[in-house]
Amino acid sequence: MAGELKSVIKKIQATGPMRQLMADYFHELDAAAQSDAEKVAWCTSVGPAELLRSFGFKVYFPENHGAVLGSSRMAADLIPAANARGYSPDICSYLTSDVGSYLRQQTPLTKAFGMSGVPKPDVLVYNTNQCRDVQDWFAFYQREFRVPLVGIDTMRGVGDITSDHLTGLIAQHRALVPILAEVSGRAFDLDRLQEVVASSYRCTQLWKKVLRLATHKPSPITFFDGTIHMGPAVVLRGDPRAEQYYEILIAELEERIASGLAAVADETYRFYWEGMPVWGKLREHAELFGQAKVCVVASTYCNSWIFEAMGAADPFEGMARAYTELFIVRSEDFKERYLADMARDYRIDGFIYHDAKTCPNNSNNRYGLPERLVTKLGIPYVVINGDLNDLRLYSEEQARTQFEALVEQLQESP
Ligand code: SF4
Repeated sequence: MAGELKSVIKKIQATGPMRQLMADYFHELDAAAQSDAEKVAWCTSVGPAELLRSFGFKVYFPENHGAVLGSSRMAADLIPAANARGYSPDICSYLTSDVGSYLRQQTPLTKAFGMSGVPKPDVLVYNTNQCRDVQDWFAFYQREFRVPLVGIDTMRGVGDITSDHLTGLIAQHRALVPILAEVSGRAFDLDRLQEVVASSYRCTQLWKKVLRLATHKPSPITFFDGTIHMGPAVVLRGDPRAEQYYEILIAELEERIASGLAAVADETYRFYWEGMPVWGKLREHAELFGQAKVCVVASTYCNSWIFEAMGAADPFEGMARAYTELFIVRSEDFKERYLADMARDYRIDGFIYHDAKTCPNNSNNRYGLPERLVTKLGIPYVVINGDLNDLRLYSEEQARTQFEALVEQLQESP
């Protein structure tokens, strides 16, 4: 894998419409923040976005902003501003880069979309299903903006999801209704919620189809493409435009399969990426693997925005179940089974575990999981140490050596 890299990335044509859709989304948020007629809700990435949309809120996701701060490589410069306010360098670097961005009044949204800043919230809504950091993160903004902070506290390490789990979670979702009605100035409309949840469900089915196309050998799409094209499933689920976008993307990927066009030329090995992306190194990683004829075909990360339970007849149950079924919420046994199933379905040759220093919640190499899976599946793995946003915690050289070691191990195996 060593040596001069020349670009091997095959551009997905649907990137154009996707960028336009994301631009529309941000412009609408900006307009809403500046008008009295529309309200803005900030929501954690796997929070109850459908409920917010049903009240007519424009929904903004600070974690998406965190990822943009990472991919634009602004994060490392902004994190110290949050550290100086007492937010440790060891906690979520989405949080610290986003808070640093706010304190310094610098955002990549200015250059990308002409926005003077992030859209100011009327309400902050979290779900602790992924971690506690999101609640502390939103609490910072509650103190800054003096707007309501409400949320859902989800249990962690869940094995089977029982009716006891669901009863409490459904009640917590329902308890948000009067607060959201007051902030939005609109009455709760069950029909509208059902419509939004149904759209979110269709979006999920389409996004799942995109990801499942990568079971084809060779794959028409890589994990690195997925991290970009998941944007509408993250920020516009429940909005029919997200569905329309995935129809376009699926048509292109199916065309690639029909014409034999692989995302990685001469695909030889198929890897699984477990953990957060290194946002500031997506392109380098895509090139590096492409050069080695490795396609990273699947990931826990991209699959985390598949919410199949949204198909439930009761939209509150759909949201409660969907936002608890997530990989990140589940027990080690569940995670082990999930990864084994993914390895089988995607015909995985090797696993990469990203140990992200500031996100223990999405670093699944720390309690013996990789070793147990090797025993079970005989598929080799490497762990790379790094971070989602703070590139000071990532060594290019070390990661490259680890990737190369995995490829060499496969080349040498009979
Ligand atoms: S799951 Fe990790 S990356 Fe996401 S908000 Fe929590 S700590 Fe940050």
